[in-house]
Amino acid sequence: MSFPFPELAYSYDALEPHFDAMTMEIHHSRHHKTYFTNFTTAIQGTPLAEQTWAQIFAQVSKHPLVIRNHGGGHYNHTMFWNCLAPKAGGLPSGKIADAINKTWGTFDSFREKFNAAATTRFGSGFAWLIVNAKNELEITSTANQDNPLMDTETVRGTPVLCLDVWEHAYYLKYQNKRPDYITAFWNLVNWKFVNSELEKCLK
Ligand code: MN
Repeated sequence: MSFPFPELAYSYDALEPHFDAMTMEIHHSRHHKTYFTNFTTAIQGTPLAEQTWAQIFAQVSKHPLVIRNHGGGHYNHTMFWNCLAPKAGGLPSGKIADAINKTWGTFDSFREKFNAAATTRFGSGFAWLIVNAKNELEITSTANQDNPLMDTETVRGTPVLCLDVWEHAYYLKYQNKRPDYITAFWNLVNWKFVNSELEKCLK
């Protein structure tokens, strides 16, 4: 568990024209920062400060709601920023490409199902690609700042890719057109990061 507020690995305008600089700045420096501050304040001096994300979320139903909402918000956004990179996207390669093809046949078929999960998540939440307990890939979505590591979820696993579908993630540029934002996301997916997360799961 690291306490300094994590900087982005790229500048706020680096994901243009897909994700605009103003949205990125507000999303990171205000929305994410608020989750981070409330979470780190809540765990300070408690045993949770020594635990991993997996340990914290595996018992999140027993913790105060601030842990679920703001710990979730901090973890989910950190994961989301890592899943993005300038001049990225396109087709995956390596182990993640093999695993996607094994599970869904083609990349397009996988993307269609991920997009459906992201589009049909009503209200605020996230779409996820996870590695489940059988070491298989699975697509799911969660409400609000919940995530698939939480014991409150029915579909559980370790995230390797996520997409924030809260309106704060896209409203300035895309207004109500969430599907356009989802289409833009695929130009930014950092498959190198997704591969590294997958490899950690398969060890
Ligand atoms: Mn967000």
